[in-house]
Order: sequence, then structure tokens, then C-alpha cells
Amino acid sequence: MEPLIELRGVNKHYGSLHVLRDINLTVGRGEVVVVIGPSGSGKSTLCRTVNRLETVESGTITLAGRPLPAEGRELARLRTEVGMVFQSFNLFAHKTVLANVMLAPLKVRRKNKDEAERRARELLERVGLADQAAKYPAQLSGGQQQRVAIARALAMDPQALLFDEPTSALDPEMISEVLEVMQQLARDGMTMVVVTHEMGFARSAANRVVFMADGQIVEDRTPEDFFTAPQSDRAKDFLSKIL
Ligand code: ADP
Ligand code: MG
Repeated sequence: MEPLIELRGVNKHYGSLHVLRDINLTVGRGEVVVVIGPSGSGKSTLCRTVNRLETVESGTITLAGRPLPAEGRELARLRTEVGMVFQSFNLFAHKTVLANVMLAPLKVRRKNKDEAERRARELLERVGLADQAAKYPAQLSGGQQQRVAIARALAMDPQALLFDEPTSALDPEMISEVLEVMQQLARDGMTMVVVTHEMGFARSAANRVVFMADGQIVEDRTPEDFFTAPQSDRAKDFLSKIL
């Protein structure tokens, strides 16, 4: 499998806290990697690092074989190739659903309006919200808003999507509609890194489960191996608490 995202020897501190410790991780094109681990283990920092929303002190991050530069125009361009979906949907409240999805392609990609709208409607259809295009975010449920956020991320035609606990802020009855959209993306071959506590999703959609604790990758295995026979005490302890 062709490596799409590669981290080699990545380290990061916040002050004296060593939050990423010698991280080595390869995500192949079309692969779905689920990242799990206790709160504070560095999962969000890892996601932000892949997009260079965080600087790192050592190590290299490459996207499709190209090193991510530390700053500048080239970084801005590469960053658009990895979309992010957060726990909080961060939609623009004063813009319609359609306008939210069209915004980045218009501003960043300088697509023309007709093309951006056609693509936005197509993506809203894909996340099951074609009929909500004219509404404002506050008129939608949390699950619908998160699906808009996914459509918005897809509108940049990213090579990969990172999800940081995309269902953690949702009421239980809305979780499955978001996970179903993510399952479909996975089946369609999207490269995805997903931080989640949804173990059902990890079992059914992940090619690999990465278990983090204290800033380190402790296990990196197939879901079947991980869930049936975790190797480390940290993973065993974590699973005993959540399963
Ligand atoms: P997770 O997503 O696994 O819960 P995070 O990556 O958010 O973990 O955080 C890892 C550690 O880094 C935690 O101890 C957290 O308190 C700390 N941390 C996260 N962001 C910052 C920041 N901006 N400044 C200082 N410490 C931070
Ligand atoms: Mg987090």
C-alpha cells in the first residue's frame, strides 16, 4: 500500500510535558486508522501535528512522500489536502448550510461559484442533507451539523480526512447517522485517521487500531488482534474500562 501520511520520530513538548514521544506512524492511501487511548494521551495533538497546526521539535512528517514544510505558502497548500473534522462542528452560524460547504472552495481554491455550488450540493446529497441546503446551522440537529462539517471538509477534495472525536459532542441517538457517513467514506476508499471512543466503528471500519498512552504509540495492530488480545497492560486496562 502506498504510504500517504508518514510520521517519523516526531516529538513534541508543551513546556515540560512530553506530549508526543518518538511517534512513528504510516497511513497508507485508502487506509482507515482508528486512534484510541485515555484522555490526555496525545491523540488530538497527534491529529493537529499531521496538519501542522502544531509545530514539532523533531522528526519528519510527509504527505504523499513530500515533507511538510514548517510554514509558508506550500504548507498552506498541503494543509488543504488533509481535511479535519472536530468534535465541535465550527460551522459559520450566519451562513446557510450550502454556503458553509461552498466557502473554502470559493476562497481558497478560487473555484467559480457555479462549480462550487454544484459540488457542494453533490456532497450534501452524499451526507444525506440535500434537502437542508438553505437552512442555517442552528436549525439543524447536532448530527446533521456534523454531517455538514464532513461535507465541508470533503469540498476541498482532500487526500485524507482526520476526525478528532467527531461524535463525542452528540446526543446518543445522533451518533449512528454520523458514523454511517464515515463508514461510507471508508468504503469509498477515503484515507482516514479517526480518534474515537466508538469501538463498534473501530471494529467494523478500521484497518488498524493505534493505541496511545502518555504520548506514545503503545500498540498498532488490526482491530481483531487488538480487541481480542491486547498486548500491553495499558491497553488491557483501557479496554476493561470502556468495553
Ligand atoms: P487527548 O486528545 O488524547 O485527550 P491531547 O493531545 O489533547 O490529548 O493532550 C495531550 C496532553 O497535552 C494533555 O496532558 C494536555 O493537557 C496537554 N495539552 C494539550 N494541548 C495543550 C496546550 N495547547 N498547551 C499545553 N498543554 C496542552
Ligand atoms: Mg482529544
